[in-house]
Amino acid sequence: MVSPWEVVQLKLDAEGKRLDIKVDFAPGSTFPCPECGVACKVHDASSHTWRHLNFFQHLTYIEARKPRTKCDRHGVLTIEVPWAREGSNFTLLFEALVLELARNGLTVAAVGRMVGENDTLIWRLLEHYVNEARARADFSGVSAVGVDETSRQKNHVYVTVFADMLASKVLFVTEGKDHTTIADFKGDLVTHGGAVESVTDFSLDMSQAFIKGILAEFPKAHLTFDRFHVTQLMNDAVDEVRRKEQKDCIELKGTRYDWLMNESKVEPGHKPEFDTLRVSKLATARAYHIKTMLQELYEQHPDDAEAWFSRWYFWATHSRLEPVVRVAKTLQSHREGIMRWFTSALSNGLLEGINSLIQSAKARARGFRSASKIAPHRC
Ligand SMILES: [Zn+2]
Repeated sequence: MVSPWEVVQLKLDAEGKRLDIKVDFAPGSTFPCPECGVACKVHDASSHTWRHLNFFQHLTYIEARKPRTKCDRHGVLTIEVPWAREGSNFTLLFEALVLELARNGLTVAAVGRMVGENDTLIWRLLEHYVNEARARADFSGVSAVGVDETSRQKNHVYVTVFADMLASKVLFVTEGKDHTTIADFKGDLVTHGGAVESVTDFSLDMSQAFIKGILAEFPKAHLTFDRFHVTQLMNDAVDEVRRKEQKDCIELKGTRYDWLMNESKVEPGHKPEFDTLRVSKLATARAYHIKTMLQELYEQHPDDAEAWFSRWYFWATHSRLEPVVRVAKTLQSHREGIMRWFTSALSNGLLEGINSLIQSAKARARGFRSASKIAPHRC
């Protein structure tokens, strides 16, 4: 114990499995005034108890009198004890144990059971440290931001996640998924020392709300439309063509996933039949080839990408396949952001990973009470 603190009594209750450590300061001890540091006499003191790390199987508590000093200049002030932070009923070592358990992937409920404390106290503790870390976060180096949304609950409450794409770190999590979400992010970025003009790139899907928000709040930033969302739109078109055609074409029954997969992933058992279908004159086969050619766009040399996309667009819009034409027009109107990938190389894979972590955390927590529980956005 740091002077003037000393252990004055140990009380071990073997039956009750409890150890009480009584700590006190000697009569006549002085403490530095929290304001000016001048050594002051103790004015009064009140008793407190803190939960400490277990001593083997014994629940362990530290009991001490918390002094208040009386400074000539600053009056009566409470002295914080060196083993606990202000307002906490746990010692710092006990809190460190809880943080470590939570960081190792245990749910709050599991941590609570393990240490024998209720969830609310554990949440409060975690929230304190997460908020503290958030308050210290420095966003001044952020230049490329990924944004994606995930639904929080079955009732379509959306959570939008912003990440620093170069540092692979979550920057901001908030409820909602409209253009004001981008303004909220901007506010938080600036609060943490980030600059609007430093953000040169955003990676996102083709969400109109996010596009609108970014154009308004970060007018100089470039948009990169996530390549997997781009090809996903085309996959949906292939599926739509197949569904329609399947009504008159029995061979297409049971082939849905073959058309959606990459060719190399088609089930070996389906392969011979699929190969026959693939080279047939079916509308689904044509849509599938158009999709494949779009995927190949991303394998082109940056200098050839524009020409490739133009050829693809011509082919797709002359396919007479309504869903394919529709998607081609959508992609054409987002062309700049699709092509930007060849410069920025950004994709939202990182965010998909983060979102699946949020989803699994959610499943384990069986619903959390507020969005702030995952990564508080208030400081
Ligand atoms: Zn003072």
